[in-house]
Amino acid sequence: MEQDGVSPLQHFVVAKKTISALFHQLLEFVKEGSDFVEDTWRSEDLDNVAEEDQCLQIQTCFRKLTVIKDVLDRRHMKVAFFGRTSNGKSTIINAMLRERVLPSGIGHTTNCFLSVEGTDGEQAYLTTEDSEERKGIETVNHLAHALHMNRNQDSGCLVRVFWPKTKCVLLRDDLVLMDSPGIDVTSELDSWIDKFCLDADVFVLVANSESTIMNTEKHFFHKVNERISKPNIFILNNRWDASVLEPEYLEDVRKQHMDRCVSFLVDELKVVDLNKAPDRIFFVSAKEVLSARIHRAQGMPETGGALAEGFQERLMEFQSFERTFEEFISQSAVKTKFEQHTIRAWQIIESVKAIMDAINISSAEKKVFSLEDREALMDRLEFVRNQLNFITEDIKDKIKVVSDEVAAKVSSALEEEMRCLSVLVDEFCSEFIPAPNALALYKTKLVSYVEERMVKNLELRCSSSINGCVLSSQRDIMDTLRPLLPPAARAQLHLPSRRFTMTYDLNLTSLGADFTEDIDFHFSLGLTSLVNRFLGPANAKQALSLLEQKLKLTSSSAHTGSRGHEDLALSMASGLLSLTSRASLAPVGQKRLALYKLLVWRAVGWRVIVLSVSLYSFLYLYERLTWTNSSKERALKQQYVDHTTQRLQAVAHIISGDSGQQVQQEMVAVFARMCQQVDKSEMELETEIRRLSARIQRLESVQRRSKTLRHKATDLESQLERFSAQYLQIDH
Ligand code: GDP
Repeated sequence: MEQDGVSPLQHFVVAKKTISALFHQLLEFVKEGSDFVEDTWRSEDLDNVAEEDQCLQIQTCFRKLTVIKDVLDRRHMKVAFFGRTSNGKSTIINAMLRERVLPSGIGHTTNCFLSVEGTDGEQAYLTTEDSEERKGIETVNHLAHALHMNRNQDSGCLVRVFWPKTKCVLLRDDLVLMDSPGIDVTSELDSWIDKFCLDADVFVLVANSESTIMNTEKHFFHKVNERISKPNIFILNNRWDASVLEPEYLEDVRKQHMDRCVSFLVDELKVVDLNKAPDRIFFVSAKEVLSARIHRAQGMPETGGALAEGFQERLMEFQSFERTFEEFISQSAVKTKFEQHTIRAWQIIESVKAIMDAINISSAEKKVFSLEDREALMDRLEFVRNQLNFITEDIKDKIKVVSDEVAAKVSSALEEEMRCLSVLVDEFCSEFIPAPNALALYKTKLVSYVEERMVKNLELRCSSSINGCVLSSQRDIMDTLRPLLPPAARAQLHLPSRRFTMTYDLNLTSLGADFTEDIDFHFSLGLTSLVNRFLGPANAKQALSLLEQKLKLTSSSAHTGSRGHEDLALSMASGLLSLTSRASLAPVGQKRLALYKLLVWRAVGWRVIVLSVSLYSFLYLYERLTWTNSSKERALKQQYVDHTTQRLQAVAHIISGDSGQQVQQEMVAVFARMCQQVDKSEMELETEIRRLSARIQRLESVQRRSKTLRHKATDLESQLERFSAQYLQIDH
């Protein structure tokens, strides 16, 4: 029967669902892509892998898609009915809806366009252009009343009637039927077309088969044809039931109408080919179909009891119109409503693909550069580390050599100074008073004078060469380490601003702490002096202490005075003898002493002895008289020279070692400073390597992401291709 099977309108419905779902996916995809591009563009570490232009471009794509998606969701098939008043437009719409939805037979009570579309609710309502308020309409009379109330509205206003989809199958499939005021009652055709016709998929010219198509009707469609390229026009010759009144002319009249309609569509409007034109022209009776359908819905016979002649044929033709119209509008609407959007979607996908490709290439290129940079930095780091280890050993050796050289230099300068110490001491002038306090002051002054002069002399001898040596070694260290530093740091490399100065710490005060001068008179031919001279200071001490003991023994056995002195003189004489005979003085025993006495007496006789004693006494007196303060000062100075020389010799290696140490410290400090710089540059290299590694990872992730998004784009593209192939047959 007439309602069997799937409605051809489903073609549009399914296509709309498909394209909507596709746009939904596309929108999500472009959103994801837009976020990705923006993130990438904003990532400073990625160094413009994505550009601002790309970001703006994809954002524009997203906005366009959002608009298209909204438009798509509102997309429906629209059929607009035009014709003169009372040709039966409302009746035809009602017949199609199988219910009396629109009031008919009320002439031009309203100037409004009336659209009927489905609502998911159970309640029918209408809205007008000037108010969003939903006005409930339960029956057609309500609607007629409402329209009547609205009759003063401007010509060309729109009243939208929402009819429950549950009541009407046709409205379930996104179809909007639009009734128009009679085109014979308006002069505002142009504004009508602009307002109501541009989005219509099909136009139905409702003609009255009792007369021919009027010029007003033709005029309107000419205007439509001017504004819309090849509008889809159907012609319904309504009131065909009236033709049964003259059955003998039926075929002729039909042919006449058909020829005129074909000629109108083909020759005048040129909207359809001649062979297809008859498929757009139908002879129907809307009134009959409507009443038959209402009766049927009420369970009554379709004809309402009276079977008019030719009713079945007219009913079938109406059904044929409906079927053809549905197929046609569905196909046509899919194309007109979705084709442009599909093409737009295609372009958007292409743009996104191009952006993803560009990002992919840019990230890959930048990754390669970063990998190369990282490789170079890692090589440099390894070089710096290896070189530093190698150079450290070398520099340590050099420092050792330089400090040893300096120590040797100082040591030899010190020896030189020690050799000249007596001259230095001689040059010291200060008042010499042999009293203890004055002597202490004298010695303090002497020590500081000597120390000051010696230090000065050492400085004169060594400092310039040592400083030169230190400076050149420092330069050497810096030059060796310089290549390990980054170029910027190399330029800032300077020798220490503080010049190296060597301190010579002779510490003569403490060295001379145990110095005790002996400025008492000592006769040069006195016993002590002679013993000292012949035995050396150590043996003399021993010999003199033995002699002391002997003398004590002699005096205790009552042989005093002349005997003691005689012995003493004899001893001197024997000392003299031994001096002449180059014999060494042996310890003298009692028997030997007696033997000597005898020998002397016999050998020289007493005159010689007297002469000797006189000479001896004279010498003694002479020396005693010349033992003045200056002699004492000389003696002190000489003793000080001897003492200091001895002490300095003992500590010379410490002093020179300390100088070496000072140089070593100075050079180690420079080396340590340089090592610090190298460490810093190593740390900088490591930080840079870490930064590059992170960047490489980011770039890899950007590369992967752009590839994934590109795949998604390709997937969406193939979905679009499938949609196109199935619904649009567009060539790309
Ligand atoms: P509209 O002004 O074009 O909307 O015309 P209507 O649908 O209001 O119809 C005007 C009048 O013509 C109404 O009284 C209808 O009953 C009547 N009419 C509509 N269609 C037919 C038809 O096919 N045959 C006959 N005999 N009358 C019809």
